[in-house]
Amino acid sequence: VTLLAVLGPDLVASLVPADTPILRADDLGAVRGDGVFETVDVRAGAPWLLDAHLDRMARSAAALDLDLPPRTALEALAGALCAAWPADDEGQLRIVATRGPESGGPPTVYATLKPITDKQRAQRRDGIAVRTLPLGVPAGLRTAEPALLAGAKTLSYAVNMAALREAERRGADDALFVSTDGYVLEGTRANLVMAVDGRFVTPRTDIGILAGTTQADVFRFAEGEGIATSYELVTLADLEAADALWLLSSVRQAAPVRSVNGVTRAMDLAMTERINDFLLSREQ
Ligand code: PLP
Repeated sequence: VTLLAVLGPDLVASLVPADTPILRADDLGAVRGDGVFETVDVRAGAPWLLDAHLDRMARSAAALDLDLPPRTALEALAGALCAAWPADDEGQLRIVATRGPESGGPPTVYATLKPITDKQRAQRRDGIAVRTLPLGVPAGLRTAEPALLAGAKTLSYAVNMAALREAERRGADDALFVSTDGYVLEGTRANLVMAVDGRFVTPRTDIGILAGTTQADVFRFAEGEGIATSYELVTLADLEAADALWLLSSVRQAAPVRSVNGVTRAMDLAMTERINDFLLSREQ
């Protein structure tokens, strides 16, 4: 099942058949990747951490000088989909806002909801193989230049998807970007968290990466458990020395890393289960 909801010019959200054409051929989201999006986990019939996602979507849109519709309209879009979704099924909700047609007009705003895949579910349990790949920029560059849209979740994911395919060609499940000055950044669609001497460490978010809602939630879990947390500049040597690694994102949750560049890594499966139990079972 895939569900589709669109926001009309009157800002009313309506559910439409999933195969309804809703983009014009000159939509700037399609022809330039000019727009923003969020992917949200849906469970118990509700979008998880929707507030944090809509906060980030507003920050992304501000970075692009893109006028988003009012937040209540985006909430209504998510609500229209969730109301039509079986409450027992876990789903992935994608909310998209593009700059609209090149010939002028309001942003194109829509959302889809589809089931999570067996692969996504399996990675929470079985772990993932990761390849490091260069992103081609120094860690400090993107935050120094606003036009590089540091930390904005834009529709321009062609590089991320190419890195994912490249990682897969080399026998891995996902890529981990590394800056030209040797700092570990983030996955193609996920953040890195490492266990280091009983602490949880994640790359600093002032190096152009996306501030993850799942990573923030995992740090909340850690703080509740008395585990110290910190944001650091993480080198490849730090990555190699860490006791355990996870890639975190809204739909996949915590996927333990079972190898990096073909080298097997120890997975802390007991901790993975505790993290995912926290992420999956908690009231909002
Ligand atoms: N980094 C990138 C590049 C992403 O695209 C995503 C999410 O899709 C994340 C990190 C993880 O963010 P979140 O946990 O909020 O889903």
